Amino acid sequence: MRRGDATATATATAAFAKRREGASDARGETYDVAVAGGTLGVLVAAALQRRGARVVVVERGELRGREQEWNVSREELERLVRVGAITTEDADACTRIEFNPIRCGFHGGGNGNGNAGDLVTRDILNTGVSPAALVEACRKRFEEAGGAVLERASLRGVEVYDDCAVLDVDGVPVRARLVLDCMGFQSPIVRQIRDDRKPDGVCVVVGSCAEADAFDNSSADLIRTVTDIEEDYRGQYFWEAFPASTGPRDRTTYMFTYMDADESRPSIASMLDDYWDLMPLYQGLDSIEDAKLKRVLFGLFPTYRDSPLKTEFDRVLAIGDASGIQSPLSFGGLAAILRHISRITGACEEALDADCLDREALRTVNAYQPALSAAWLFQKCMSVEVGSRPKRDFINRLMRINFNVMSRLGEDVLRPFLQDVVTFKGLGKTLVSMTLTEPLFVPEILMNAGVGPILDWFKHFAALGAYDFLASPAAALADTVKDFSAVSPRRRFIIRRQCEAIIYGAGRDVIP
Ligand SMILES: Cc1cc2nc3c(=O)[nH]c(=O)nc-3n(C[C@H](O)[C@H](O)[C@H](O)COP(=O)(O)OP(=O)(O)OC[C@H]3O[C@@H](n4cnc5c(N)ncnc54)[C@H](O)[C@@H]3O)c2cc1C
Repeated sequence: MRRGDATATATATAAFAKRREGASDARGETYDVAVAGGTLGVLVAAALQRRGARVVVVERGELRGREQEWNVSREELERLVRVGAITTEDADACTRIEFNPIRCGFHGGGNGNGNAGDLVTRDILNTGVSPAALVEACRKRFEEAGGAVLERASLRGVEVYDDCAVLDVDGVPVRARLVLDCMGFQSPIVRQIRDDRKPDGVCVVVGSCAEADAFDNSSADLIRTVTDIEEDYRGQYFWEAFPASTGPRDRTTYMFTYMDADESRPSIASMLDDYWDLMPLYQGLDSIEDAKLKRVLFGLFPTYRDSPLKTEFDRVLAIGDASGIQSPLSFGGLAAILRHISRITGACEEALDADCLDREALRTVNAYQPALSAAWLFQKCMSVEVGSRPKRDFINRLMRINFNVMSRLGEDVLRPFLQDVVTFKGLGKTLVSMTLTEPLFVPEILMNAGVGPILDWFKHFAALGAYDFLASPAAALADTVKDFSAVSPRRRFIIRRQCEAIIYGAGRDVIP
């Protein structure tokens, strides 16, 4: 019955993953884990292989990271060391640049004199990591420990049997007890589960790495605006800028915006045109010609309200961008997986040990997280709905008021938010303080967001409160039950995952 449900729920446009009855007759070695997709996948693969699992990575391209820089916090990178995927020396070698301070500022704020009204912090997204070096280091540790890599090998389908999953890798069957879908947003398994549904929101990012004499690399920008909502109401542009490791005058700048997936929305090409027009204003250049372009960067990050993605098949678990565990506000998929890496590798290890590889058990790994769902309202507030005409400075005023309030409330409120993590106490204090200091602005926010989304948000906010209240007892219970042999291995697995869902769902994954 359970299996029938799983297949029916995942009504597929193309049935990439299928549930089959009985045991597989495919021959060959059975891996503990097959990791499909090797960008973030190799990080998890290395950690699992080093902990004793037999792992194979299937990557359709070359198993190598991109030539750009990923910005994360150094403490986030340390978490990869703690799970054994890399060494401290590897972490140092992957770290191409570190910088401080980190600034946030919004158009119309301060005293009109440059960055005077900025909020200044430290150690958040202050490390430029080379994806190429990181993937190479993980791959080396993975292969040294006996891990297998199938490169330039495409996964064409997965059949799930009672005893294992059989991956079709370019026509060759590969057997594994557990499949980790690390194929990103475009994963055919994710598309099948989501029935090719349009995303609820999209974060579109365009940017470049360039060199210019006028670039000021003495600080980075975590978020900044230099204009109000665009005249044609296509959206509000936000900016980020980080010193790049390729040279003292090299800087990576991103322009991003949030929108729904309506067909009338601007294309990436037209956003790039806006980027070339606005980047000189943002970085204090006379003209875009003053910058020597080294690399153009862009990306489109679909987000779904019902994230993380619910597991729909026995033996198949989504990890990384495929799983939707990253905040709808962020395009920091590496940072998100680093914060969850010990939870994910621990869960996979325990699932293999306790043979908890069915859909119900795996669902507890990517469970509901109110901290993630509560962040949805912010994406909505920071975007402009098709056809709506808010005051053009509305989003800037909202951001200024919000950041001023958080800054007054202190680092324990501000720092989680700057890491795109929502916490109950931080959010609660901010809301009360905003209502007291700007009572007339609150109705404007409510009107812009709409009654439905606000009511929906309160549901998640209440759940966040409950999770926050339970987080410390849950941590104690997860620890106690670990070696409690009176409880069955399956029960222990599920209790520990439920405890983790509470801890992470309360937003306790932030870097202090
Ligand atoms: C411009 C830009 C800037 C970014 N900056 C940052 C940053 O500063 N910090 C940060 O944390 N994150 C950043 N990100 C996000 C980060 O790049 C992603 O979160 C990360 O790449 C997600 O990795 P993934 O492995 O989950 O998915 P992907 O990167 O999409 O990788 C999926 C992998 O699966 C493989 N694959 C797909 N289909 C198959 C198949 N059928 N068979 C076998 N293999 C397959 C692909 O070849 C690919 O290697 C940025 C992204 C962009 C676009």
